[in-house]
Amino acid sequence: MRRAGALILCGLIATGSVALAQGAPRSLDDVISGILNQNKASKPAPSQIPIVMGARLGRENDRTRFVVELSDPVAIRTFTLADPDRVVIDMPAVQWHLNGPPPVGMGSVRDLRYGLFRSGNSRIVIDLRAPVQVSDAVVLAPEQGYGYRVVIDLLPTSRAVYDAHAGWPADLKAREAAAERLAALGSQTRTDARHKIIVLDPGHGGIDPGTNGINGSLEKDVVLDVGLRLARSLQKSGFTVHMTRDSDVFVPLSERVRIARSWHADLFISLHADSNPDRSVNGLSVYTLSDRGSDKEAAALARKENQSDVVAGVDLSGESSQVAPILIDLAQRDTLNRSNRFALAALDRLGGTTDILPREPHRSAAFVVLESPDVPAVLIELGYLSNADDAARMQSAAWRDGIAETLAGAVARQFSVQASLEGAISIH
Ligand SMILES: [Zn+2]
Repeated sequence: MRRAGALILCGLIATGSVALAQGAPRSLDDVISGILNQNKASKPAPSQIPIVMGARLGRENDRTRFVVELSDPVAIRTFTLADPDRVVIDMPAVQWHLNGPPPVGMGSVRDLRYGLFRSGNSRIVIDLRAPVQVSDAVVLAPEQGYGYRVVIDLLPTSRAVYDAHAGWPADLKAREAAAERLAALGSQTRTDARHKIIVLDPGHGGIDPGTNGINGSLEKDVVLDVGLRLARSLQKSGFTVHMTRDSDVFVPLSERVRIARSWHADLFISLHADSNPDRSVNGLSVYTLSDRGSDKEAAALARKENQSDVVAGVDLSGESSQVAPILIDLAQRDTLNRSNRFALAALDRLGGTTDILPREPHRSAAFVVLESPDVPAVLIELGYLSNADDAARMQSAAWRDGIAETLAGAVARQFSVQASLEGAISIH
């Protein structure tokens, strides 16, 4: 299916230009319905998910052209976001069969990534070097061995014009608001307080892969699998477990916090894996919230993990907490004490299961995902995917089970100690 040289750029611009010149561009809807009508007989079964077979960039004078090649026509919507400047291309769920990442660093494009944004919605996010105007998407019918191609042109524009148009479309914003209302409703209807509730938060997901492992593994896959194993271990011990994600889907940071709060979680555990330019650095570490990082490295790590929404094309305008320093008030101190106690207890036990970061394995920084004022929360960096030993360990099912069992034990211990403390206090 894939042609050799599919990523050769200059030829592709020519192909796109010739095809475009054959007729005035029509609206995307017109084009798609036209194609669908033409191809009714060969229309794919509804269960067949379109395949993205190629993504290419080309440049002609100051115009940067982005072409996505698909097995079937899909409805595409584009919009822009500011601070940082990004172009978001949304489409129904697709399968990505790309031969490695598309070439980037051309024209207005600094970088790009793709993946599932949420269930049923795939997304491409383009990081821009400068403000652009995005042309209407034009769909070209298959020809000369190419599949359906969606062509989008990026043309330079002024900062003022760009900023005036940037932001999530109104219906997307409305959907977020609805999700928020739903979460609030969920929190009101929860009545059973007998069981301790643990919310597990495998980091990243979908369009946001997290860190790339030295052995080709992806942070999002490692932490999801460890999360699912940990959920099973905790459930076996009688805990009620909710997950912020249980599949390869992106979840915004604020949504993760909202899920923890809506369940009135007794503990929130965020799972991640780190990387370091120094490939000899290895070991697990546990982080809790603080307004200042406990050291420069911890602060830098928080900044990196807090980028998740930017990576996935979330509109951060109006969400000052994402960028403003996190201010911890006194009411949060009790929550923080519980978080710190669990961090230390977990490290104590995990030392028997895996390597622990030799220097200061318990650190703190301003992680957005740990921000719930009323939910004790830790973020565990399971190890360094930049380190060969850690990366190999993290691929092992036995290691993952060991981490899950040990962490579940630490959680059980935390609540039995807490219960005895609270029992002792209630006697007086
Ligand atoms: Zn991470």
